[in-house]
Amino acid sequence: MAENLRIGIPSKGRLSEISTELLADAGLSFRRQERSLFARVRDMPIDVTFLRTDDIPVLCAEGAIDLGITGSDLVNESGAVVSTRLKLGVGKCRLALCVPDDSGVKRPADLDGKRVATSFPQITTGFLAGHKATPHIVNLSGSVEVMIALGVADAIVDLVETGSTLAANRLHVLAELGSYETVLVQNPATPHGHVADRVARRLEGVVIARAWSLLEYNVPEAKLAEAEQITPGFNSPTINRLEQSGWFAVRAMVKRGEVIDIMERLEQLGATAILETAISNCRL
Ligand code: AMP
Repeated sequence: MAENLRIGIPSKGRLSEISTELLADAGLSFRRQERSLFARVRDMPIDVTFLRTDDIPVLCAEGAIDLGITGSDLVNESGAVVSTRLKLGVGKCRLALCVPDDSGVKRPADLDGKRVATSFPQITTGFLAGHKATPHIVNLSGSVEVMIALGVADAIVDLVETGSTLAANRLHVLAELGSYETVLVQNPATPHGHVADRVARRLEGVVIARAWSLLEYNVPEAKLAEAEQITPGFNSPTINRLEQSGWFAVRAMVKRGEVIDIMERLEQLGATAILETAISNCRL
């Protein structure tokens, strides 16, 4: 067995930087020499390996790496037997079956015998089989969205994030095949389980810290119960009595995307001194 745990991260592309930042925020920092395959993590028995994002699920299942950061879409498509330890809260997208706006294809079943371009042949074939359709799959590694204009396909199955690529190519979503995001995967038989647990816990702290803020405010006793309903916290809010009689100080974790709305609601309720603080790391 290798002496150190090996974690595989994408060597290039959008996930490469995201993975490096996540690991650094979790206290796992390393310096990558140009073009080298490995880097040693400072102060931990961990080596980082730089790999193609779509090879990471299979290399993890085969034991070449103990942990990996990749897309759950690629895990699904590969069929690799790995455990998903953690959703990393980034890279969220949907896999969608898309047709031209003027297409005669109205339902997935209409694609029987038609040409479907995709980088996800397994998921696509499985999905369409469920609709009793057997398409001709045009298996491509990228730029799938232009294949209808090129006359290569009648429909595509591709990842959609904002939908702007679809709109630019005059395509629309006929059906969704799944929702995916960036994940931490683990070889189920890794001999480095203890270190893998530490990495997963550290990354979890960062993922939660990025998704939540700490909100503090003062509220009169008569409104305390209502305020607690607005900010129930991660588990439970902290409540302290203020020196000023009839007033309480509340501290609660709040989802970052909801902070502005919640601050408004608390203010309308009569809360004062409402402060948001970013959390940079946590253990819950
Ligand atoms: P959008 O125009 O925002 O819908 O993005 C669609 C384009 O970005 C397509 O070419 C997708 O293949 C690619 N894309 C979107 N989300 C992801 C993701 N999470 N991972 C990899 N590629 C993605």
